[in-house]
Amino acid sequence: MKEINAAEFEQEVLQGGKVVVDFYSSECAPCEALAPKFEAMAELYGKKIKFLKIFRQQNRELATELGVSSSPTLLFFDQGKQVASTISGGIKKAEIQERLDSMISPEEVIAIKANQKPTVSEYDVAILGGGPAGLTAGIYLGQAKIKTVLIDPALPGGYMAITHQVSNYPGFTEAQPGFMLAHYMSEQAKQTGIDFKVAVDITSVDLLKKEIVIDQLETIRAKKIIIATGTTPNTMNAPGESEYKGKGISYCATCDAKYFVDKEVTVIGGGNSAVEEALFITKFAKKITMIHQFDKLTANQTAIEQLQANDKINVMYEYEPRGFEKRGDKMITTLENLKTKEISTLESDGVFVFIGFKSNVAVLGDTLPEMNNWGYILADEDMKTSIPDVFAIGDIISKKYRQITTAVADGTIAAITISKEL
Ligand SMILES: Cc1cc2nc3c(=O)[nH]c(=O)nc-3n(C[C@H](O)[C@H](O)[C@H](O)COP(=O)(O)OP(=O)(O)OC[C@H]3O[C@@H](n4cnc5c(N)ncnc54)[C@H](O)[C@@H]3O)c2cc1C
Repeated sequence: MKEINAAEFEQEVLQGGKVVVDFYSSECAPCEALAPKFEAMAELYGKKIKFLKIFRQQNRELATELGVSSSPTLLFFDQGKQVASTISGGIKKAEIQERLDSMISPEEVIAIKANQKPTVSEYDVAILGGGPAGLTAGIYLGQAKIKTVLIDPALPGGYMAITHQVSNYPGFTEAQPGFMLAHYMSEQAKQTGIDFKVAVDITSVDLLKKEIVIDQLETIRAKKIIIATGTTPNTMNAPGESEYKGKGISYCATCDAKYFVDKEVTVIGGGNSAVEEALFITKFAKKITMIHQFDKLTANQTAIEQLQANDKINVMYEYEPRGFEKRGDKMITTLENLKTKEISTLESDGVFVFIGFKSNVAVLGDTLPEMNNWGYILADEDMKTSIPDVFAIGDIISKKYRQITTAVADGTIAAITISKEL
């Protein structure tokens, strides 16, 4: 693996045969997450493909010329031509490997795969999930010098990282951008010396054996496991929903509302998150139509009053979406009037869905801890589950209030309990 600059690009990349280039930046969490994976890939594929790194901040012009607008970005070249699709952000090992495999012959792929050696590492504690709950547990365990690994299929931060403004996290007089809080928390956790394995594929989890396999070949064994995998937004399973996910239908206002300046938007839902997110979208869109299945909103009174005072938002009560399609740039939502059963359509520039959440337990293997009727894990006051040495914290547990502060509190309790036991 070699570091080059813009002046060397022509010779090293365009005349360099098969090449993969990593445009990286400093103070870039996804770049740090990629570095060990890039190195591991270089060791495996290094004889067939050249691995190069370019520091983006000092080679801006070249990066712009190549359309690189975020870090890290991986570009793949063969005989001076770009091959395989570009990847950026929280890059997984499997995504790199898939592209590298497409650049060499099937025989070479088989030979390389045969060289991949499974690894096993031992920890005191493995934390599954790097949202505020998991990060806080990591901070306490790291400070207690307990050998800990934090594993996440995404980058650390959880929902906090995609929340536009957090105004209720103590210690800040001004509302904080969620990604900054996520950055502070994850840097604080890293500084304690715990290991981060983020943007990885979770191959399997065995809570009884306390064994987690990531990226197919890396086995992690721990004395104790903390589950902090949070929740996922519910989907309606209406026709067209999965087809237009990310192409007209969104589940994250913080991520996507900015693309709807002066546009018309449909919001599905009527609980707290739907009302709060609809209010946020009014900063961008000119008109919002909310579709709600009941005859009144189920959000808290303050949020409802704010919504009622906002003339950009109109609520259609007792309607349910029955399907989605796209005509040109417009999203067409088919609606059923639940009282009259009449079917109608609503045209808008985009649809946002906020109809609650489900717990992320599906990836936790065959033997799960005891849960409530809605699939949330039952944890006692020490955050212990029904499985010995398995703890659960944050939004994934059965609890009344799901907030960053409550997730952080759960992480604290689990970590202190574990510190006393180990
Ligand atoms: C739109 C929105 C706005 C919000 N605004 C606020 C606010 O202003 N103030 C506030 O206090 N709270 C807010 N909340 C609630 C708050 O974000 C959550 O309560 C909090 O993030 C829960 O933390 P957590 O660590 O339990 O889970 P999460 O934040 O959901 O993090 C879970 C982590 O686990 C990872 N994960 C998933 N599956 C696996 C797996 N199989 N293995 C390993 N890791 C996995 C995920 O990638 C994620 O990083 C908001 C929530 C939403 C959705």
